[in-house]
Amino acid sequence: MIDLPKKEVDVLVIGSGAAGAISAWDSAVKGLDVSMIGVGTPATEMSSGCIRFNDDRSVPEGLGLDRGDLEDAFSRAERFLIDEMKTSGLKMEGARRDQGRYYRCHGTIVPENIVQGPTSSGGLDRIEGERICVIGFEDRTEFDHRLFAKALAQRSDLRVEHIAVGTTNGVLRNSSVDDLLDMFVDAAGSASGEVVFVPPFISLKDIDRWEELEKRSGRKFAEPVMDLGMPGARLRDALISSASRAGVSITNGASIVGMSISKGSLNEVTVRSGHRLQHIECGAAVFCGGGLVGGGLGVSGKDVIDPLGLFDVRYLREGDGIDILARASSGGIRTGPGLEAIVDGEKVRNLFVAGASLPGMNIVEGNGIGDAMATALLASKAATEASR
Ligand SMILES: Cc1cc2nc3c(=O)[nH]c(=O)nc-3n(C[C@H](O)[C@H](O)[C@H](O)COP(=O)(O)OP(=O)(O)OC[C@H]3O[C@@H](n4cnc5c(N)ncnc54)[C@H](O)[C@@H]3O)c2cc1C
Repeated sequence: MIDLPKKEVDVLVIGSGAAGAISAWDSAVKGLDVSMIGVGTPATEMSSGCIRFNDDRSVPEGLGLDRGDLEDAFSRAERFLIDEMKTSGLKMEGARRDQGRYYRCHGTIVPENIVQGPTSSGGLDRIEGERICVIGFEDRTEFDHRLFAKALAQRSDLRVEHIAVGTTNGVLRNSSVDDLLDMFVDAAGSASGEVVFVPPFISLKDIDRWEELEKRSGRKFAEPVMDLGMPGARLRDALISSASRAGVSITNGASIVGMSISKGSLNEVTVRSGHRLQHIECGAAVFCGGGLVGGGLGVSGKDVIDPLGLFDVRYLREGDGIDILARASSGGIRTGPGLEAIVDGEKVRNLFVAGASLPGMNIVEGNGIGDAMATALLASKAATEASR
């Protein structure tokens, strides 16, 4: 093992998904020296990048968060999504639906909305035109256009056609944006549909080319909501870009493997990257390691475990008759009312937890990215104060 020189930072953020990135950004824009360290693919990147903010600003009950603070954090997270993401090149659009607001990347459409028509705020989900064309790849590796077209046709009186392009496995992954653009423009030319659905294929750096696609084909393009694909990756790239612009030092591919805590205070963390070890002294830290999918938590039997073997774990739901998934998804790292971590029953004054690592914030229970971002802003505020 090679030891790297020791480092000092004001705030260390562990995990670089939605919670980590907004938390690091928030502390950095307040002038602090911030490092963010993450490993693996965060759930944020696997998501469809559609984000819900409930009107009642609910996060799982039992976290004991102050309502006023929570209200403020949700509003700031929403503003961040609209304003800050735009400066990172990602245009997020919002619509009112049910008891909340939904945000998604320009062009991403939820199929139900095509069928149900415009929402009360209008605009976003309205598909102008009665004919829709769905383009996909013959091998269906990324997006089953036939199934999507069938579902649309069955649930609406829209006229839906589908066109297959390419037959090579992994064509979406292996083709350049120019190739795909040409392919989709050609295919759209032979379609009668006014609106053309394509699998999400444009990354954040090429996002402006959406307009080119529409101009060249004279059609309106849309992409279906899709997990494990481009929309989540675009969101993650935009979040990382914002954190980086704010001055956050970002290390990917490194893990926090240990924390030294004494007398209720975090003094140092140990970071491992391949054969290299580094100790980082920090004024405060925010753990945004994610939930059961993101890697911040694991499952053993029907219990949630923290892979660092450090934090106390608690469940929002207890008792017999609760199935394994429900129990596991209601568990997470125990925190005090200010999101400070509890270790061996004691509050750690300068270590905070946010996002899907919190009890009940796993996808099955929580609202996903919206909740993760709001709690991260609460944690970054506390960490910023604790580090001074
Ligand atoms: C397939 C899928 C689709 C989803 N779709 C949606 C959706 O459309 N809308 C929505 O709101 N929510 C969605 N969710 C849920 C949402 O993605 C998560 O709730 C949210 O992204 C959690 O963000 P986070 O920052 O807390 O964790 P994550 O995004 O998981 O980030 C945590 C990161 O921390 C890293 N990490 C963990 N431990 C360490 C360590 N010791 N050292 C360094 N790094 C560490 C992890 O490897 C990971 O990269 C979806 C989830 C999945 C899996």
